[in-house]
Amino acid sequence: MDQMTKKYVDGFMADLTAKNPGEKEFHQAVKEVLESVAPYMMEHPYLIDQKILERIVEPERTIIFRVPWLDDEGNIQINRGYRVQMNSAIGPYKGGIRFHPSVNLSIMKFLAFEQTFKNSLTTLPMGAGKGGSDFNPKGKSDNEVMRFCQSFITELYRHIGANTDVPAGDIGVGGREVGYMFGQYKRLRDEFTGVFTGKGQTFGGSPMRPEATGYGTCYFAAAMLATKGDSYEGKTVAISGSGNVAQFAAQKATQLGGKVVTLSDSNGYIYDPDGIDADKLAYVMYLKNVLRGRIREYVQQYPSAQYFEGQRPWGVKCDIAMPCATQNELNEDEAKTLLANGCICVAEGANMPTTPEAIAAFQEAKILYSPGKASNAGGVATSGLEMTQNSMRLRWTPEEVDQQLKRIMTDIHEACVKYGTEEDGYVNYVKGANVAGFIKVAEAMMAQGLV
Ligand code: NDP
Repeated sequence: MDQMTKKYVDGFMADLTAKNPGEKEFHQAVKEVLESVAPYMMEHPYLIDQKILERIVEPERTIIFRVPWLDDEGNIQINRGYRVQMNSAIGPYKGGIRFHPSVNLSIMKFLAFEQTFKNSLTTLPMGAGKGGSDFNPKGKSDNEVMRFCQSFITELYRHIGANTDVPAGDIGVGGREVGYMFGQYKRLRDEFTGVFTGKGQTFGGSPMRPEATGYGTCYFAAAMLATKGDSYEGKTVAISGSGNVAQFAAQKATQLGGKVVTLSDSNGYIYDPDGIDADKLAYVMYLKNVLRGRIREYVQQYPSAQYFEGQRPWGVKCDIAMPCATQNELNEDEAKTLLANGCICVAEGANMPTTPEAIAAFQEAKILYSPGKASNAGGVATSGLEMTQNSMRLRWTPEEVDQQLKRIMTDIHEACVKYGTEEDGYVNYVKGANVAGFIKVAEAMMAQGLV
C-alpha cells in the first residue's frame, strides 16, 4: 500500500474509532474491508468525494429494545434486543438473528457490515442487516424460548417485513426459534409472508436451507482446491463448532471424499482419528439438535475418540481447516501451527473466525484462504432463493436448490479470482471478495442519490 493510501486508511480508521468507541469487532471488520478497497477508492476519487465509505459504515437505522419475559418459575427476565439495518442499496435488509450472551452493539454492527458485501457477492438482490439478543437459549425450556421469541417479535415486528427486512437464523437461532418468531409475526400482522427465511419445511422453508451454509463453504473450498488441480478426496479435515454450519460442512466434506476428524463447542473439541462418518454425524445431529447436549458426550458413544476440554481443534494435523463456530476463534499461533502441520486450505464457515494476524500468516504462506463473506455466503444465498419461492408461492426440489447453490458459489469464487488475483498469480480471496462486493453496493448507492 503506498503512502497516500495508507494515510487515507489511517485517517478513516481514526475517525471511525473515535465515533464508535469500544466497538472492537466492528473496527476490525471495517479495517479489513477498507484495506482491500482503499486502492480502488484512490483510482476512483469521486467515491472519496462522495463519502461513499463514510456512508457505508453508518447503519441506515439501528433499533435497540427491551425484551421482557417470564421464566418457568414466574420470575421476570429482561434482555436487550437489536436490529441493525445496515444497507438497503441493492435490496431489502437481510441477515440473521443471533441469540448469545456475548451479543452487543459492536458484534451486531460487525455482522451487519460483513453482510453488506456478502449479500452483494451472492448476485441476488439483498441488502444487509443483522439482529439478535444477549438472551442465552442454552438450558432454557421450549416454553421459555417460545415466550422470549414472542416478546422479541412483539417489538421487532413493526420494523421488519417481506419487502423491508427479512431476518433468518444464526448462532442460537435455528428452526425452532425461527418458527416461534414467524408465528408471532404472522399473528400480529395477520399476514402470511416470507418475512423470515430458514422456516420449517411445512410452512415455506426452502429445501436445502439448513444445509446451505455448510455445503456452500465446501463447494467454495472445492473451487479453491480445483485451482491447484486438487480436491477433498483423501484429505484430513479439521472443523470447529458443532452447530448448523459445522454439521453440514462435515457432511459435505465427507461426501466429497474428505475425512473429518474434529468438531467442537465452546467447552472443548473432540478428535476422532478414524473420521466422523455419516453414522457418527447422524449421532452428533441427534445429540446437538434433539438432546441439545454437549460435544464431549461424543466420546462416551465412540470411545476411540478423545475429548480436549478448554481447547480448540487447530493443533490437530490436517490438510483443510474449516472454522465454523464464531468470530476470532483462530489466532496467529494457531495459524502457524496449522501451517507447520501442512494445512493447505482454510475455508471459513463462520463470520470473521480468523484474527487479522492469522489471516496475514496464511496469506504470507500463500495457502488457499477464504474469508467467510465469500465462502459462507451460500446460507444467505439460499435464503434469497427461499424469498423467491415464497414470492412465487411455489417450492423447488432440493436438487434444483442445490444446483443453484453450486452455481452461486462458483460465481462468487470467480468474482474473487477476478478482483483478487495478484501479480504473482496468488489469489487474495479477502481482497477479491471485498472489492467485488463493494463495487456493486457503491454503484447502487451512487445511482440512488444522497439517501
Ligand atoms: P449454531 O448456534 O448452530 O452453532 C454454533 C456453534 O459454535 C456451536 O457449536 C457453539 O458451541 C459454537 N460457539 C458459539 N460461540 C462460541 C464461542 N464463543 N466459542 C467457541 N465456540 C462457540 O450457529 P451456526 O452454526 O448457525 O453459526 C456458526 C457461525 O456461522 C457463526 O459465526 C455464524 O455467524 C456463521 N454463519 C451462520 C450461517 C447460518 O446459515 N446459520 C450463515 C453464515 C454464517 P456452544 O454450543 O458451546 O455455544
